[in-house]
Amino acid sequence: MTTIAARLQAVNDRIAAAAHAAGRAPDSVALLAVSKTWPAAAVREAAAAGQRAFGENYVQEGVDKVEALRELGLEWHFIGPLQSNKTRLVANAFDWVHSIDRLKIAERLSAQRDVHLPPLNVCIQVNVSGEESKSGVAPIDAASLAAAVAALPGLRLRGLMCIPEPSADPALLHARFALLRRLKDELAVSGLTLDTLSMGMSHDLEAAVAEGATVVRVGTAIFGERQAGAFAQPG
Ligand SMILES: *Cc1c(COP(=O)(O)O)cnc(C)c1O
Repeated sequence: MTTIAARLQAVNDRIAAAAHAAGRAPDSVALLAVSKTWPAAAVREAAAAGQRAFGENYVQEGVDKVEALRELGLEWHFIGPLQSNKTRLVANAFDWVHSIDRLKIAERLSAQRDVHLPPLNVCIQVNVSGEESKSGVAPIDAASLAAAVAALPGLRLRGLMCIPEPSADPALLHARFALLRRLKDELAVSGLTLDTLSMGMSHDLEAAVAEGATVVRVGTAIFGERQAGAFAQPG
């Protein structure tokens, strides 16, 4: 077994154990392998081990991998910050965008999505950490943004996503993830039923699964530590 295959297995085991502990079916949580900064060969290796869904943060890097690996028929998720001058590339290369936090970006993605493709699956990114983090719509504004995004023809609103501030305090992480779940439940009460909670990463996926994550986004635990500076690469 390759290192990536062994680490993938270990992550899938963690997800299954966390689901079991929460009384959830293991297949109710999907694994998104975050391949940002890693070459196409690493994605190929993970794909050979059975992984189908991959997440990318940087537009050009992601589009290059989507094109290089097209024959594998993988599912691609854009999970990074998105500027309006890059929406056209993302709208047509990816299957999902998790990081919608402004209506303007959603409108551009909807208008630019090729009409021959199925609608782009999207999640609204919510800032569950207050001032500690800058990305994401404020929780109080999530419902109105969700309603507006749900009405766009080129998009299919699937759920909510969050990235809590890094913390070693499990109680704080649970509270952040529970807030996202509550927002999704409130949307359902107001008539907008969504099927996706994108939350949890390498260090906190157990807390996220306990609070209802349906997609965990895991990079380091599968591919290894990213090189310093790679994270800051421009989009
Ligand atoms: C990098 C990244 C991840 C993966 O983080 P790891 O700690 O490497 O598992 C998940 N989600 C987003 C939005 C990211 O940018």
